[in-house]
Amino acid sequence: MKRIYWFYDINKKNLNVAGGKGANLGEMVKAKFPVPPGFIVSSGTYFEFIDKLHLREKISKILDGLDVDDSAKLQEAAKKAQKLITSAKISPKVAKEIEEAYDELTHTVGEAPLVAVRSSATAEDLPDASFAGQQSTFLNITRNNLVESVVGCWASLFTARAIFYRVQQKFDHMKVGIAVVIQKMIQSESSGVMFTTHPTGESDVMIIEAVYGLGEGIVSGMYTPDHYEVEPSSWNLSNKEISSQERMITLDKTEGAKEFEVSPEKQALQKLEDQKIIELAKLGKKIEKHYSSPQDIEWAYEKGKMYIVQSRAVTTLPKDRKRHEDEAIVKMMKPFLKGLAASPGIADGPVNMIKDASEIDKIKNGDVLVTGMTNPDMVPAMKRAAAIVTNEGGMTSHAAIVSRELGVPAVVGTKNATKVLKQGEIITVDGKRGMVYKGEMKNLLISKVPEEAKREANSGAHTWIPTATKIMVNLASPSEAVRVASKDVDGVGLLRAEFIVADIGVHPKEAIATGKKDEFIEKLATGVAQIVEAFWPRPVIYRSFDFKTNEYRSLKGGDKYEHHENNPMMGYRGAMRAIVDRDVFDIEIKMFKKIREELGFKNLWLMMPFIRTIEEIREIKSILKEEGLLGNRDFKFFVMAEVPSVALMIDEFAKEVDGFSIGSNDLTQLTLGADRDNENLASTFDERDPAVLKSLEMIITGAKRNGCYVSICGQAPSVYPEIVEHLVRWGVDSVSINPDVIERTRKIVAQMELKVLLENTRKRE
Ligand code: PEP
Ligand code: MG
Repeated sequence: MKRIYWFYDINKKNLNVAGGKGANLGEMVKAKFPVPPGFIVSSGTYFEFIDKLHLREKISKILDGLDVDDSAKLQEAAKKAQKLITSAKISPKVAKEIEEAYDELTHTVGEAPLVAVRSSATAEDLPDASFAGQQSTFLNITRNNLVESVVGCWASLFTARAIFYRVQQKFDHMKVGIAVVIQKMIQSESSGVMFTTHPTGESDVMIIEAVYGLGEGIVSGMYTPDHYEVEPSSWNLSNKEISSQERMITLDKTEGAKEFEVSPEKQALQKLEDQKIIELAKLGKKIEKHYSSPQDIEWAYEKGKMYIVQSRAVTTLPKDRKRHEDEAIVKMMKPFLKGLAASPGIADGPVNMIKDASEIDKIKNGDVLVTGMTNPDMVPAMKRAAAIVTNEGGMTSHAAIVSRELGVPAVVGTKNATKVLKQGEIITVDGKRGMVYKGEMKNLLISKVPEEAKREANSGAHTWIPTATKIMVNLASPSEAVRVASKDVDGVGLLRAEFIVADIGVHPKEAIATGKKDEFIEKLATGVAQIVEAFWPRPVIYRSFDFKTNEYRSLKGGDKYEHHENNPMMGYRGAMRAIVDRDVFDIEIKMFKKIREELGFKNLWLMMPFIRTIEEIREIKSILKEEGLLGNRDFKFFVMAEVPSVALMIDEFAKEVDGFSIGSNDLTQLTLGADRDNENLASTFDERDPAVLKSLEMIITGAKRNGCYVSICGQAPSVYPEIVEHLVRWGVDSVSINPDVIERTRKIVAQMELKVLLENTRKRE
C-alpha cells in the first residue's frame, strides 16, 4: 500500500486515496493551476493505523448504538474515540516516511517550509454532502510537530460534531476514511473565497470575498470580508463593498497562527486591488471550465502571487436557474407558518421538538427548538438553538424576552408549530418578520440585509446622522434592492413598477387576453417581493402603473390596445387608467394581496400617479375599500402631487388621502408648460423656477395644514441640493431621492433642520 502521494500523482478520481480536498488539489496541479506544493498521506495510511493497533474494534464498540441525541453521551464517546487515536503509537516506519516526504518538499521549495496540515476525508465535498469544515486543519506546522498533526487530523474524524453529522447523513463511521494534505503554507497578505457563479444561480455574477491575513477568519465568520462582484461576460467589476477589518490572523514566529491588530491606516482599505480581483476572477472561470461546473474556491495572495488552496463544486445551485429564481422568491418564500416576530435574525436548522424542560438535552447546537411554550428551565437549550419556534406566547412571553436577550431568532405564538412541523426537517426561521419557511436559508433567497448593512456600516461610508425628515429612496429595479436597503435610508419613497413590467415584456391586457394573467401577477409579485423583503420593516411606496400610451405600446401586444396620441404626456395615463382599465388594476390589487396577506409584508403601501381630480381619488378609494385594502391601520394610501390642480386645491385633496408625494418632474412640466422630454426646452424646464417653487410650497404647507403626510419623489432634490433647503423649511416629512445622493441629502437635511430650529429660537428671543 502506498502511503505518500505527491499532488502531481493524483487527480479528481482518487477520492478514496486522497479524500475530496486532496483529490481536487491534485487535479488542479495536473491542470497547472497555481497550487502551493505538497503531498498527501493516503487514507490507506489511516486505515492501516487503526487496524494495526486494533482501534477499529475499540472505536466501533464506543460508537455502536450510541444515542447521538444524548449530548452528554455523545461528548463522552467522542472524547474516548479521539483519545484512543491520539494516544496510540504510530509506527516509526510510517512516521519516518511522512518526515522524509517533508524533507523532499524542503528540497523542492529550497528551505524547510512551514506547512498546513489539512484533513481530507473521503466523505467530503461530495455532490450532496459537503462535510465542510468538519475536520481539523493545523497551520504553520514544522517538521517537529508534523506527525503529531497528522494524527490530530485522524482524531478529528471523531469529534462529537463529525459523529453526529455522519449519523444524520447515514454514513458508516468506520468506512469513512481520512487522508491528510500537507502543503506549503502561504502567509497570505489577503485571502478569501470565490464563487465562480452566484450561489443563488444569478447568471453573470462571480463573487469574491477577501480578508487580510489567513482565510480562517472568513470561513468561521469571525470577520466581515470585503465583497466584490465581477461580471465575467465583460470582466467588469460591478460591485465593491469594503469592510473595515481591525484584526487578522497571521503568523507569529513562536506561537504559530495568531490574531493581530490590523494597522489603523489599513483597516478601512480594500483588501485586494481591482486588477487582482479581475485576475482572480479570470482564474476562477478557468477552473470552472476545467471542471465543467461552478466552483467554490479558496484563494490566498502572497507577495504578488495568487494561489488556489481548495476548489469544490458549488452544490446548491438551482438546476433551472430562471424558473428557480421565480419560484424561490414567491412560492418558496411563502411562509409555512406565521407567528409573532419575537426576536430578530434569520437562521435555519433541523427541527428538534421537545415537550418540556426534561428533554432539553436533546437540543444540540444549531437545532431549531420547537416547543409549546418555553420556560426558564429551558434556557440552556435555548442558548444552543439556532432559532426558536413556539405554539404559544406573545411579544412579552418568556420565550420572546429570553430569545431577544440571547440573540436567538424566535417566532412565538404560531399556534400549531408542534403539530405541523416534522422532527428533523430543515426549516428557516425569520424572527424579524415572524415567519417560518420550509428548507434551508440559502435555497430561499432570503436577503442578507443585516449582514450587508453591517458591512456598509463597518466601511465607514455612512454618516448615520439622525434626521427628523425621513430620507427615502427611489427604486425601480428589484436586483438593486438588497444593496440599496443596506444604506442609511428610511424606505422606498417611489417604487416605479414600470421597470418590472418592462422586464416581463408583455402588455397586461395581452397577458389577460392570452390566459396569462396569473403568470403576470406572479412575476410582478416576484419583483415587488424582493424589494419589500429587503427593506422590511421600512415602508415601500409602490406606485401604480404610470405608462404613457407610447410606452405601453412597446410592450408585447401593446399596439393592439394603445391608441396613437399626439400628446401622450398629457394623454391617457395615470390614475384614470386604473379606473377605466379595471382589469389591469386588478393585477396590481391581486399582487398587493399576495404580498401583504400571503407573504405578510405589510410594509407595502400604494400610491396613485398623475391624479388630476378629486373624483379620481374617490373612485380609486371605493375600489380599494371594496377589495378590503383601505381601512387597515397598516395600509397607507398616497397620491402623487404632480398636476397643478392638486397644488391649487390642496386643502380639498388633503382630506381624501393619507399622504402626497410630489412629482416635481411632471409638476414642473405642467406648471411651466414645458415638455420634460423636449431638449429644445431644456433650459426652461428648471425646478428652481419661482413658479415651481411656489407650487411646491403650496403643496407642502397645504398638506401640513391639513395634518397630511407629504413627501417628494421627483428628481428636483437629487439634482438641486439647494431645493432640499426649501423643502425642509416648508415642513416636508420626507424626501425620496436617487440612491447615489443619500449621504449628501441626509447631511443637507440635518443642517437645515438645525438652522430652522435655531432661527425659530432666535425669533422667540
Ligand atoms: C415625477 O413626475 O416627478 C415623478 C416622480 O414621476 P415620473 O418621473 O415617473 O413621471
Ligand atoms: Mg410623474
